[in-house]
Amino acid sequence: MQLTIEQFRLSQELDQLGSISEAPPPVVTRVVFTDADVRGREFVKSLCREAGLSIRDDPAGNTSARWQGSDPGLAPVGTGSHIDAIPNAGRFDGTVGVLGGLEAIRALQRAGFRPKRSIELVIFTSEEPTRFGIGCLGSRLLSGLLDPSAGESLKDRDGISLNQARASAGFTGSLATVALPRGYYSAFAELHIEQGPLLEQRQVPLGVVTAIAAPASLKIQIEGEGGHAGAVLMPGRHDAFLAAAEIALAVESAALSTGSIDTVGTVGVCDVFPGAVNSIPSRVRIEVDVRDIDQPRRDAVLRQIAEACDKTAAKRHVKIHSEMVNADPPAQCDPIVVNALVQACETHKIRFERMISRAYHDSLFMSRIAPTAMLFVPSRGGVSHRPDEYSSPEAIAQGVLVLAEALSRLSS
Ligand SMILES: [Zn+2]
Repeated sequence: MQLTIEQFRLSQELDQLGSISEAPPPVVTRVVFTDADVRGREFVKSLCREAGLSIRDDPAGNTSARWQGSDPGLAPVGTGSHIDAIPNAGRFDGTVGVLGGLEAIRALQRAGFRPKRSIELVIFTSEEPTRFGIGCLGSRLLSGLLDPSAGESLKDRDGISLNQARASAGFTGSLATVALPRGYYSAFAELHIEQGPLLEQRQVPLGVVTAIAAPASLKIQIEGEGGHAGAVLMPGRHDAFLAAAEIALAVESAALSTGSIDTVGTVGVCDVFPGAVNSIPSRVRIEVDVRDIDQPRRDAVLRQIAEACDKTAAKRHVKIHSEMVNADPPAQCDPIVVNALVQACETHKIRFERMISRAYHDSLFMSRIAPTAMLFVPSRGGVSHRPDEYSSPEAIAQGVLVLAEALSRLSS
């Protein structure tokens, strides 16, 4: 089989998808179920139709595009990723796995390969937590890890429920029907940019992912007492923002306290109410993200943060309510899928390294229902979630080539 990757065409398609954004280029902002997201989905679906794939949307907005195998009764092989993007993001996160997955299928078609198992390209809904505060919404629902009642309970900042938002994007029906049974896919492989600096630093073209780190996220509400910034004197204050600041610093020291480079803690959201320069903050909401590849160590950090909340509440006489949004276990990748990727690298004489994914991906959840692994391509400067995020067309093409080879092995 002679596999060739149409690198130039793929780059153009990545650029075209990147231009479908709520912000002017090079900024990509494509939040789930917004107009840009809907247009992005349409663009990808039109390319899938061109490739002769049959398309199915589920009520959560996950899309699968199927290349029918010669034995359609067999469980299909899955590949894919996401196309939603956080505000002020770049062109490659997620999209490389979607458009690259499609190019892998087209390369197999061009080579005259005929899969025995069907191959399905999956476009997951809302991998990014931007709108509903929870990442990997689509793959969580697919894997049955998120209760379908989330449709009503999850709301965005404007109070729009997940059910309302998906309906506005054309996805209706019960979320209870989204979950796939274990074994629905015989294997799942996700191509993704590394989003870190290791491959580039080590000058290794590809990373075969053997485990995915476990993220946990917290929403912390702090209620203090507002008042006039001039009239209320310092000793009598119960400033909600200052309590939040103490907690944020506690997150940093808790993450540092493990002594492991693999523990990371971030406060990425801070909403201050009423948000006026001459008003003492009465209410603050912060969101905390803690990750590690070692679950007990990560959970110890979460306990330290909880203790810091209790101490701060007592010291500053504020009310603190903390809610665990998610605390997922880490995923071990499946040796069969890892080996298919490794053998594909060897077949095409492309150097690779086994590595761990510290970022959060749909594969974390797919691993619950299917043998799963991931393939990373280098990110320039390790930069991601920024407009200057970049992976070279050559690097992406190597990833697509290995993905195509692995898909052919897994679907034969
Ligand atoms: Zn991603």
